[in-house]
Amino acid sequence: MIAELINRQDRALKGRPLASINKRKELLSSLYRSIENCSQEIYQALQLDLGKSKFEAYVSEIDFVLHEIKRAIKMVDSWAKPKRVGSPWVFFPAQSYIYPEPYGKVLIIGPWNYPFMLVLSPLIGALAAGNQAIIKPSEISVETSKIITKVINQVGEPDLISVVEGGIEETSALLDCQFDYIFYTGNGQVGRIILERAAKNLTPTTLELGGKSPCLVYTDRIDLAAKRVVWGKFFNAGQSCVAPDYVLLKPSNKAKFVDACKKWLTHFYGQEIDRSADYGRVINSRHFNRICNYFTDAEVLWGNVRDAKSNYLSPTLLDAKLDSKIMEEEIFGPVLPIIEVDDVSAAIDYIASRDKPLAAYGFFDAESDKQLYIARITAGGMVINDTLIHLSNANLPFGGVGESGIGAYHGHHSFETFSHKKSVMRRSFYFENSLRYPPYAGKLSLIRKILALFG
Ligand code: NAD
Repeated sequence: MIAELINRQDRALKGRPLASINKRKELLSSLYRSIENCSQEIYQALQLDLGKSKFEAYVSEIDFVLHEIKRAIKMVDSWAKPKRVGSPWVFFPAQSYIYPEPYGKVLIIGPWNYPFMLVLSPLIGALAAGNQAIIKPSEISVETSKIITKVINQVGEPDLISVVEGGIEETSALLDCQFDYIFYTGNGQVGRIILERAAKNLTPTTLELGGKSPCLVYTDRIDLAAKRVVWGKFFNAGQSCVAPDYVLLKPSNKAKFVDACKKWLTHFYGQEIDRSADYGRVINSRHFNRICNYFTDAEVLWGNVRDAKSNYLSPTLLDAKLDSKIMEEEIFGPVLPIIEVDDVSAAIDYIASRDKPLAAYGFFDAESDKQLYIARITAGGMVINDTLIHLSNANLPFGGVGESGIGAYHGHHSFETFSHKKSVMRRSFYFENSLRYPPYAGKLSLIRKILALFG
């Protein structure tokens, strides 16, 4: 079935150019309408898969995607225009351009934590850039996978966009086929498999991965810092690739910070958090057990209320150490280790010694601390004095570095990701400079002088 789908997409394009700008806009508009038509079912699916509140589903999945579509429709004419650049004078008269071209057939593989947005958002970039796409949503968020299929089927352009549902078997079958670009979001272990399979055909690949995103709290504004940290941490029940994974702070600020976290969590979700419509659930029992078995050597300061039947784990604050087990891997759940480190520079040294994170957060008062953090830490993205918000700014590229990924997207950066940049130089027959042609005798010293002057 997969091979048939790919053959069909190939046949559809034979002898025809990839999507024109008007066709791209038409596809994006039709996608927009389809999402609007299905919005109630999308909310329901996200509620069933992740217990996601309507508010979080709206801001981080549906509205996020609709905004990206609107921006792409508005900007695609200018994004797709060839850009004129300078030419070396020795080739005068000449004109040089960069032409963005679609790669062709794109494969988008998504994860389960923002299961709608994380396949639709790259799809928008792929379509705006004029590609065909096959998307493979995560099989773990099963309800959302179904509704994504419905949304795409309603667009009704199977030669240009289709969905393949399924798990490892289907993804492997897709990776057996030749694509012109692969865009994968998920964990690094699978990321390595994808890259290995892509290498066979030299297929360019974006890997949007995760890891432990640190959060430094070296400010006197403890109350506001705690509010912003727990918001970012417990959004989607801690299952955000950019959630602050752990907090490092001065020993003297710890008690105040923990109290402020408790205060804000109670304010956000009430006294009975399990009854809050705003607090999500862990995706499934495998991940629930993984998280619960991950903090056996750290002292629980607050939370750790569990209901295995519904995969409910209340927001949990831990007293941890730098060498606690929970500091080994990404937590990806509602557990926040709080760790004492004497000062900012020791905390920065610690982060610099670890893998490059997807996001790095720091709350500071002193400008010198902010500058030091920005200068010393390499990360996919960084936010000073807040959490998560950088990914909602489409002007900023979103992606990782090192262990946290390869490549970036959002807004114009998505268009760039899914476009090959073709260099085009146009010359005229009017003027011929013979200096470059053999025989070279007597030309070297002249060309040296000229290049030193103008080169
Ligand atoms: P997942 O288990 O849903 O896997 C992601 C995709 O890989 C799925 O479509 C799945 O079918 C496919 N897959 C799984 N095993 C495979 C295999 N052996 N061969 C081929 N394909 C396979 O999601 P996940 O990996 O658990 O997602 C969570 C991770 O993703 C976390 O590390 C998180 O930080 C990261 N993440 C990163 C971003 C980002 O934008 N950088 C966003 C969300 C999640």
